[in-house]
Amino acid sequence: MNLVGLFVHSKFRIGVVLLLTAIPAIVAASPAIQDVRIASQTDSTRVVFELNETAKQKIFTLNNPLRVVIDLANTNLNTPLPDGMGLVKSLRSASHDGVLRVVLDINGSADLQSSWLEANSDYGPRLVLDLQRTGTMREGVPAVLPPIAAVNSSANSSNNSSSSLNASVDPQPIKTLPANVGNSRELVIAIDAGHGGEDPGAIGRHGLREKNVTLAIARLLKDRIDAEPGMHAMLTRDGDYFVPLRDRIDRARQFKADMFISIHADSVKDRSVTGSSVYTLSGKGATNEAARWLADRENAADLVGGVSLDNKNNLLASVLLDLTQGASMSASLDAAARVLQHLDSVGDVHHSDVQQAGFVVLKSPDIPSMLVETAFISNSDEEARLSAPKHQAQLADAILAGVREYFYVNTPPGTRLAQIKATRQARNN
Ligand SMILES: [Zn+2]
Repeated sequence: MNLVGLFVHSKFRIGVVLLLTAIPAIVAASPAIQDVRIASQTDSTRVVFELNETAKQKIFTLNNPLRVVIDLANTNLNTPLPDGMGLVKSLRSASHDGVLRVVLDINGSADLQSSWLEANSDYGPRLVLDLQRTGTMREGVPAVLPPIAAVNSSANSSNNSSSSLNASVDPQPIKTLPANVGNSRELVIAIDAGHGGEDPGAIGRHGLREKNVTLAIARLLKDRIDAEPGMHAMLTRDGDYFVPLRDRIDRARQFKADMFISIHADSVKDRSVTGSSVYTLSGKGATNEAARWLADRENAADLVGGVSLDNKNNLLASVLLDLTQGASMSASLDAAARVLQHLDSVGDVHHSDVQQAGFVVLKSPDIPSMLVETAFISNSDEEARLSAPKHQAQLADAILAGVREYFYVNTPPGTRLAQIKATRQARNN
């Protein structure tokens, strides 16, 4: 008995030893770039390198042609580099003696600021490079809160570094989206077809997939919005592929969307439930999101025309966020109520008031956003209707009617729609 006990015991020990020797091998894995993201506003471009762990880095600039060089020790590149955008003409990479070198070719002259952001629950550690155009007028920046540039604090955190790039080449204009007509811009409506790719969304009893219905309605809505004078639509996805929720709002922001509309179809166990609902972001969702943006200043930068909030103190940053979020939430409610009213004439309405929830896609603090549950795919009648092109078109018409009404009442100045309204009023007088 004793012998057997000893034997078992020592076998157990061997197991433990093996396990312990395996751990250092995992820890010693070299850093790797997992994702590279680039975003651009009128006068600023941000490049984010997301790694699995931090790497020793050296960042410097070279002239003729102007470029930023990032050397990362002992690092692998596990993702393709994106195309250039804004101030970054192109990105390329090479490896020498265990050092990964990434080179950004720069358009024009710019200030460079770089920093490491710690890993959080959503992202690994990120090396963030911000390029801010210098030597150009700042008036053209479509910032939600224009005074931000004037209240720049000099209190940089210690792991940040700044330098100025002086270019010999002339600054080139950044491609603006969408096309501007004269001096006025078109309103941009971001349409988000829910789900996609490996995420089918809800599935009806007869096999209708939510991801296909949402895309069909989104495309019909896009056609209608594009046909409206002064309006232009973009789709967060235009095919059957998966787009992470946060990427959907990031895309809308890249296109400087004036409104975000997410299209879905509802589903519940009780198959008798029918009707459409419209959601905007709940107060709790907004509060949580503000805390998130404040905790992760990388994201908050995009809120104020691409100007980083990294250097702003907490109070100033939270005041700016509050103002932006408050305005967006009341605009969202107004527009959502109009859309709901028009949906009421197409079919059943499940909730007669705009509902509030913490859906991720509604969380852009600076873009009025709504989520439309067009009908219940779990109900057989509504499933049949949702698959019919005629009904899809009616839903798109109703959403368009609500959006159009909202923007004719709340017309942002400087837009082509504002010009159209002014011309009509002059004609009527
Ligand atoms: Zn859905």
